[in-house]
Amino acid sequence: MTLNRGLSLAFVFLFACSRPTGPDAGPPPDGGLGIETCGVDVHQHFAHNSSFDVGASSMIEGMEAVGYAHSLLMPPPIADPGTAPEGAANWIYTERSRDGGPSLLETVQADPEHFSLVAGGGILNRWIHGAVVSGIEPDEADLYAFERAAEDILDDGAVGFGEMAALHLSIEATHPFIMIPADHAYFLRLAEVAGRRGVPIDIHAEMVDGVTIAIPDDLPRNALGRSCFRSTANETNPGNNPVEIADMMVGFERLLAHDPSAAIIWSHVGWDNIGHMTTERLRELMSAYPNLYLSLKMLDDPSPGCQLIANRPLDPTDGSLRPEWEALIEDFAERVVIGADTFFGDPSTEPASVAAPNTRGTWALVDRLAPETATMVACENPRRLFGL
Ligand SMILES: [Zn+2]
Repeated sequence: MTLNRGLSLAFVFLFACSRPTGPDAGPPPDGGLGIETCGVDVHQHFAHNSSFDVGASSMIEGMEAVGYAHSLLMPPPIADPGTAPEGAANWIYTERSRDGGPSLLETVQADPEHFSLVAGGGILNRWIHGAVVSGIEPDEADLYAFERAAEDILDDGAVGFGEMAALHLSIEATHPFIMIPADHAYFLRLAEVAGRRGVPIDIHAEMVDGVTIAIPDDLPRNALGRSCFRSTANETNPGNNPVEIADMMVGFERLLAHDPSAAIIWSHVGWDNIGHMTTERLRELMSAYPNLYLSLKMLDDPSPGCQLIANRPLDPTDGSLRPEWEALIEDFAERVVIGADTFFGDPSTEPASVAAPNTRGTWALVDRLAPETATMVACENPRRLFGL
């Protein structure tokens, strides 16, 4: 960023963060911090079964209702087509959306006030997963081709790489299971590109820490005593998950250590479907790796889901911020961001995109933070991290 651009952005930022006051202004939804004009959600999606311009309209409505200003849009992590279930998302940011609608790139470029592009979940994640599935180790020529593809994505205007996956559980029939060792040669090379170009990598990673778990026996249960996640061993109703998942944290820590100049954003923290993601463990990792960032996500109503409620930042009984999460966020306030992970689309086929439960649930956290921390998490951190 040039000094001039930095100064003018600083001016816009200060200006944007002051809100009108006076008798007609009404009570501010966030206590007067101006988050409705400077807040950034770093992890949002369009539903691939709607044209993206329809998704964009739904999303802007949701953003105004919830009270933030800018969304980073990205493809979900795409699996190797050989392993992806029927109906799974399989698109890249330059391809037309449903009904001949605009691509993700075009949609974002048409409305830079509301949207910025994060990409690589299509091209790069599918590329790495394909290598994992084939078992073929990339040689230097392969790594160079991958690196060029990553650079091209940034040259198209992406402000980060995402959504990548280290461990992605399948929650329904069309949802893929993806496991990629985070210390795979391609992932390490991506970190080098990210470090060199000053952009972050957004990674979806459920935590399996130091043990091998059985699916679904070792997973949290919902109020009905059931797990949301089915494995291939279920004879009557098989899911896409394997019967066992081994530790993935050794590889994840190797990625964090590989290039300290590469910011790694751990997405969906606070939505723990396995039960290993405690604040104590997150604190240990945040202390050890200064390039690690936490992107918080929460379902508005956690009861139908299977995430471990004890590892959720907000107590669902009264909506209060749990003290151990408050301490973690306060202690690492410069490295926490908000990423609600909602799929916005046509309201008639995607009703959740209008009510935006994940977005409401996640942004409710900001209202529970001390004012200075709320402004850092919602506005300053994402703008600095992504160079917005
Ligand atoms: Zn995700």
